[in-house]
Amino acid sequence: MISRISRNLQRRNFATRGAAPESSPAQGHYPGTYIAGTYNRLRSEIAGRIVENESLVNVPSWLPLSFATDDGVAFHPDTTEVLDHRIELDLRRGVLTRRSRLREPSGRILAITQRRFVSVRDPHLAAVECTLAAEGWSGRLLVTSALDGRVTNDGVARYRSLPSDHLRPVEECFADEQTMCLEVETSDSHIRIAESARTRVFADGELVEVPRRPQAEPRYVAHHLDLDLVDGRPVTIEKVVAVFTSRDDGIYEPHRESERCATGAADFDELLDRHVLTWAHAWNRSRIDLDDPVDDTARVLDLHVFHLLQTTSKNTAELDVGVPARGLHGEAYRGHVFWDELFIFPFLSWRVPELTRALLRYRARRLDQARGLAREAGYRGAMYPWQSASNGREETQTLHLNPESGRWLPDASHLQRHIDAAIAYEVWSYWQVTADLEFMRFWGAEMMLEIARFWVSATTYDRLRDRYDIVGVVGPDEYHEGYPGADEPGLRNNAYTNLMAVWCVCRAFDVLALLPEQRRRELLEKLALTQEELDRWGDVSRKMTVCFHDDVISQFEGYGDLEELDWESYRSRYGNIGRLDRILEAEGDTPNRYKLSKQADTLMLFYLFSAEEVQQLIERLGYPYDADLIPRTISYYEARTSHGSTLSYVVHAWLHARGDRRQAWDLFRQALLADVADVQGGTTAEGIHLGAMAGTVDLVQRCFTGIETRHDRLVINPVLPDELDRLHFQVTYRRNTIDLTFTADRLVVQVLSDGDEARPIPMEIAGTAHRLQPGERLEVDLARPRR
Ligand code: BGC
Repeated sequence: MISRISRNLQRRNFATRGAAPESSPAQGHYPGTYIAGTYNRLRSEIAGRIVENESLVNVPSWLPLSFATDDGVAFHPDTTEVLDHRIELDLRRGVLTRRSRLREPSGRILAITQRRFVSVRDPHLAAVECTLAAEGWSGRLLVTSALDGRVTNDGVARYRSLPSDHLRPVEECFADEQTMCLEVETSDSHIRIAESARTRVFADGELVEVPRRPQAEPRYVAHHLDLDLVDGRPVTIEKVVAVFTSRDDGIYEPHRESERCATGAADFDELLDRHVLTWAHAWNRSRIDLDDPVDDTARVLDLHVFHLLQTTSKNTAELDVGVPARGLHGEAYRGHVFWDELFIFPFLSWRVPELTRALLRYRARRLDQARGLAREAGYRGAMYPWQSASNGREETQTLHLNPESGRWLPDASHLQRHIDAAIAYEVWSYWQVTADLEFMRFWGAEMMLEIARFWVSATTYDRLRDRYDIVGVVGPDEYHEGYPGADEPGLRNNAYTNLMAVWCVCRAFDVLALLPEQRRRELLEKLALTQEELDRWGDVSRKMTVCFHDDVISQFEGYGDLEELDWESYRSRYGNIGRLDRILEAEGDTPNRYKLSKQADTLMLFYLFSAEEVQQLIERLGYPYDADLIPRTISYYEARTSHGSTLSYVVHAWLHARGDRRQAWDLFRQALLADVADVQGGTTAEGIHLGAMAGTVDLVQRCFTGIETRHDRLVINPVLPDELDRLHFQVTYRRNTIDLTFTADRLVVQVLSDGDEARPIPMEIAGTAHRLQPGERLEVDLARPRR
């Protein structure tokens, strides 16, 4: 049967946390629902300053479904005895099932079985089905089904002293006997959000009418149902909810669309079937199959892919949204978009490149804003914000709270200009995997040229040294925001930033060379890019400063003069020293004084580039390079890194994949556990770490398999860890699907004939060149390296 809802062309993406439908935030559970791209700004005064924060809004909760006896005793996991409680997330089907048995004080037991999903197939719909069984008693049960717009953004303790109430009431009403509607509006961005819920009751599979009492008050609407439960005869409640916003495409008005969609929706099972089929298709393109006799690696990787697909799916491909660092899962970092894309896009580009393209267009659409930011700061070109949300304005907070000391502190993390290089790197990497000239011509090239222009304008020339410097920046290691005792924040010559800037300029030249002649001319004219300016770019790309000390690359100029930290003493006193910045500040000290890093900074270079590329960059600048420079630099910073960001373990695991497979595996496991084991002690509840999740998948997908693109060839050079016996997945490379099966000593490559390219694909597998035709299969023997 074809659903009555045929809204496949419409796109909307939202996600809901796994809280029990009868729980409320006040009870410590957090039933958040987040709609991609739905932001709002609120202002407040902190420490005498007016600050404005833009947040991904926690929209009205569609979940509420609660149960009470007729004498008013609620069946609630916090207040009644919990006899059984089990929650199961079916990753393959995208369904959350919950089974509980609760006993209220007078002994009545209620068995609750719930299944729920937010539909990927019908992107405006979500549904919960709840089967209730009285055990050993018969009697009345009061059920409340509601839409609750009184929610606030209350999910992160440290933000709670700031205003968090984003929603204003618009309307609460009832479309028919079964369907209630709630409409609210965000206070500043004026996005209207309409939710309609159809609540129906079934007994023995038949729809039954039960007495209902409607309730409506500002931002809240409910149906109170009276159920007469009979021992041994379960009753099922079905709640189907339609969510629309005034930003959705192809709609007339959100309220009426949501009413129409909810009242006309198919039943739970049919909606579920459609949803499950769509998940199955998504998994076909995204899964990683691995035989993993040792631990739960396969399952956790599936969880990570699940979160990636929830945050970015076909439903986001046509939306103007970026990918928030914490997914659509929690409120930490306020739903902002950071450089975490750098860790997320490789997974997407090699699987569903349309998604990377869409997410890069989020950046492309904000190119003018980035030009404005550069201009305001006295530069040229495009300077993307460190934290981005609705319109590409800089959204980094100006003050942050250190929960250890209770102090509000100035925040200079917006000086992480390296975000610009990350975006150029993402465009270039997407191009490498897809050869999507259309994207490059229309959007990518202009972004890359404007980014290169920014970098050149950000340099200052030091006549004495005949070198270009970049000053006043912060590197990926956010623990160093400036020099000890300095009045102004910012560092000189962060090596990662400077080398990335050189790389960006070099790639900008490549981009100019690959563009068709007419487009190149047009772009040069549009950007008023003269030969003289290009000559200067060339000069900067050969004379950028990189500092060295103790025979390693200095994270920034002057790093070598900083003090050593007594790591042992801090470890023994504090145990978890991930957040050394907070610890030191609370002690009246500052990380700026010490040789320490929050996360990989200089070492990012070896994550993003091969040793050969690093060598080329360093030698291009006329600095000496020897084969041990990279290993020396790695061990130097590894000993001084606190891994205060979940991204850090991903990078470090990558660095060891070819040299020390045992250590690489251990670090990979650390990265893998970041959220399932909540290694940062409480941050997972504030939102999963999507960059680290994607990074772990990418470690398996690209790093252990040695998949890369080089000179228009697909290179595969596996170094499978001993813990992985067999690995199977498919990648999309230049419009071809390539099926790959790795075992300890063998690789089977098959180019599926579903691509639209009839040409052979040049490959290099374990050092040998091949050309594979669509449909062709190749088996290669691999010698497994010894540990
Ligand atoms: C990390 C950044 C990251 C951000 C968002 C911070 O803790 O230091 O590198 O972009 O979290 O995930």
